[in-house]
Amino acid sequence: MENYKSLVDKQNMFFHSGATKSISYRLSALQKLSDAIKLYEKRLMDALKADLHKSEFESYTTEIGIVLEEIRFIQKHLRSWSKPKRVKTPITHVGSKSYIYAEPYGVVLIIAPWNYPFQLAVAPLIGAIAAGNCAIIKPSELTPNTSAVFGKLINEIFPEEFVAVVQGGVETSKALLLERFDYIFFTGSVSVGKIIMEAAARYVTPVTLELGGKSPCIVHEDASIKLAAKRIAWGKFMNAGQTCVAPDYLYVHENVRDEFLHQLALAIKELYGNEPLKNPNYTHIVSKRHFQRLESFLKEGEIIIGGEKDEERLAIEPTVVTNVTWTDLIMEDEIFGPILPILEYRQLPDVIEGIQQHPNPLALYLFSENEQVQDKVITSIPFGGGCINDTVYHLATPYLPFGGVGRSGVGAYHGKGSFDTFSHHKSILKQTTRFDLPFRYPNLKNGLKMI
Ligand code: NAD
Repeated sequence: MENYKSLVDKQNMFFHSGATKSISYRLSALQKLSDAIKLYEKRLMDALKADLHKSEFESYTTEIGIVLEEIRFIQKHLRSWSKPKRVKTPITHVGSKSYIYAEPYGVVLIIAPWNYPFQLAVAPLIGAIAAGNCAIIKPSELTPNTSAVFGKLINEIFPEEFVAVVQGGVETSKALLLERFDYIFFTGSVSVGKIIMEAAARYVTPVTLELGGKSPCIVHEDASIKLAAKRIAWGKFMNAGQTCVAPDYLYVHENVRDEFLHQLALAIKELYGNEPLKNPNYTHIVSKRHFQRLESFLKEGEIIIGGEKDEERLAIEPTVVTNVTWTDLIMEDEIFGPILPILEYRQLPDVIEGIQQHPNPLALYLFSENEQVQDKVITSIPFGGGCINDTVYHLATPYLPFGGVGRSGVGAYHGKGSFDTFSHHKSILKQTTRFDLPFRYPNLKNGLKMI
């Protein structure tokens, strides 16, 4: 097993030199990153095509454009976020002033998954740099082309004592986790998330875990059906359903079921054409193992839309399955592919109860015009975040921190959330020496006696 001690030591030395702490260093590093991403745009798109058959449009909107926007937003606000914040001081502390300093943790480990292999490696890095840290990133081994281009890009602009990319799979991750980091940021599956948390516990290292799970989508009887169908088709089949916040399964009210399914079929056709498997802009499944896992879900229920697949090219059509129950295989774990199971309901409380009985989702989507229904769902089900009358969009705004709750994750990031995640908020009380109030001291005359 490779040993990463010397790399971590090097980063520790660099961090303790104070170089990364200056705001101008951070801003210039972010600018270098932004410039390099623009320069590498074509190479990144080619790599994403080779790894996942991603279209240029999806590659730009979900991998490249989104991180360029995140850099721009953070650059704009960084000076103000990083200033010590003066806060109130209680009357008992008269004479003193209180401040909160945002301080970098030090050396950060970022472990990324394969589904948005560029975005999910870079977005946490932006937060780590903005907050003044050094970082080691382990991108996914399942998308070797994108991970290689990403590694080259980082190598070209940053010295390894500041930011380093370590390529490899599970063994590499495990070897990295033997070292002591000041923060670990992990994006991936729940099962590996638990391993990360255990490894972090050895040094009491704080973690962010961006995990997954089954994210429900509810179409209530008063929903705007045509729009719901289009927005659900977009959020579900983008990246061939390999999105952590994709609607995993759908609850549709029985009164609007038929109309919804009709509109969903039209929306899929509108987005991917009559033969999605031949569409050059339709993403493929990342590996044979995942393809076969998804294939096994098609043995139960009734396929009413799609269902065609091509094992050689690892592609599965946008597929909708009805006659599904919670005991079917497809309802056990996160699907992470272009298959949407449909459950029907009559009463909203049954839906709420059904979801409550399962682990907290990362995202939840509700389509309804009724504000009472909206509030009921938002406040009675624990989930990371989500949308009313839309899907997935909540993660693309820097004003909303993005993360899970319970089994779908720990912590959140994006925008100011990223800066805060990678900063330790150090509380400082600055006391006056002009006077010294007596109440806090033991009063030998009237109060405590010395033994
Ligand atoms: P994964 O957990 O298999 O792998 C993620 C990373 O962990 C990879 O870099 C991998 O090399 C490493 N890894 C795998 N096994 C390990 C082990 N035993 N010890 C240490 N490291 C190990 O996840 P994945 O298949 O790459 O991604 C899919 C999962 O990620 C889905 O569950 C999805 O929901 C989740 N995800 C979550 C988010 C989010 O933002 N919350 C985003 C994307 C994906």
